[in-house]
Amino acid sequence: MLEVNEIFGPTIQGEGKKVGTPSVFVRFGKCNMTCAGFEVEYETPSGIKKCSCDSFHASDIAFRDEWQKYDTAEKLIDEVNKLIPNYKVDIVLTGGEPLLYWKDSEFQKFMKHYIDAGYQLTIETNGSINIDLDEEWQKKILFSMSVKLSNSGESLEKRVNVRTLTNIINFVKESYLKFVVSSDFLSQASLEIEKILTQIPPCEVYLMPLGDTAEMIDKNSLSVIEFAIKKGFKYSDRLHIRVWNNKRGV
Ligand code: SF4
Repeated sequence: MLEVNEIFGPTIQGEGKKVGTPSVFVRFGKCNMTCAGFEVEYETPSGIKKCSCDSFHASDIAFRDEWQKYDTAEKLIDEVNKLIPNYKVDIVLTGGEPLLYWKDSEFQKFMKHYIDAGYQLTIETNGSINIDLDEEWQKKILFSMSVKLSNSGESLEKRVNVRTLTNIINFVKESYLKFVVSSDFLSQASLEIEKILTQIPPCEVYLMPLGDTAEMIDKNSLSVIEFAIKKGFKYSDRLHIRVWNNKRGV
């Protein structure tokens, strides 16, 4: 069963390698992490106060009743197609953690449908789930891997899966890593990122400023840009937050 928190677009991809590209997003429900370190406070439908990331509506199964359930790929494709304009957009699968559905044959069918039809399909993932990559068409998926650092509050064992990162980078050469960092976390981030990079094949690295409001992004962006230049990483802004302040569904 595919559980989907929201489908929205066309809008622009707000971050990473394809920033600015018109895209339709499918946000899957469920995540294998909670990332309490990102300090976004919220309340579940039953009134429990929690702390996680800004995607808590998708990551926390407490919101499951709000998610749409699709028992076939075809039904989900029908919904996504309603949002595709009369030109090619990227299809972006995000979450939560979409790779939790990797072993679901309907998820595979859904992705293959869009790859076969010539769409660029991106998966926004935390890169921590073990997956098998064995189909030739899967080489066309762009994996945008937002590997979590210690500021997420998750354990190293849970957030850094060297085997999965290695498999994905070897299988899909254009895939890349991205890290969210803040001004006060740069030196620790540097140590942690460099350690991860020594354990995996070479790949592009993007740094993005922490923040779920335009004000916070502004506060962090200059120091993250300077840090990226110093280390030879790429900088990615987070345009959707700058423009829409993390409003849902855009
Ligand atoms: S891995 Fe991503 S979606 Fe999941 S809790 Fe952490 S930041 Fe949120």
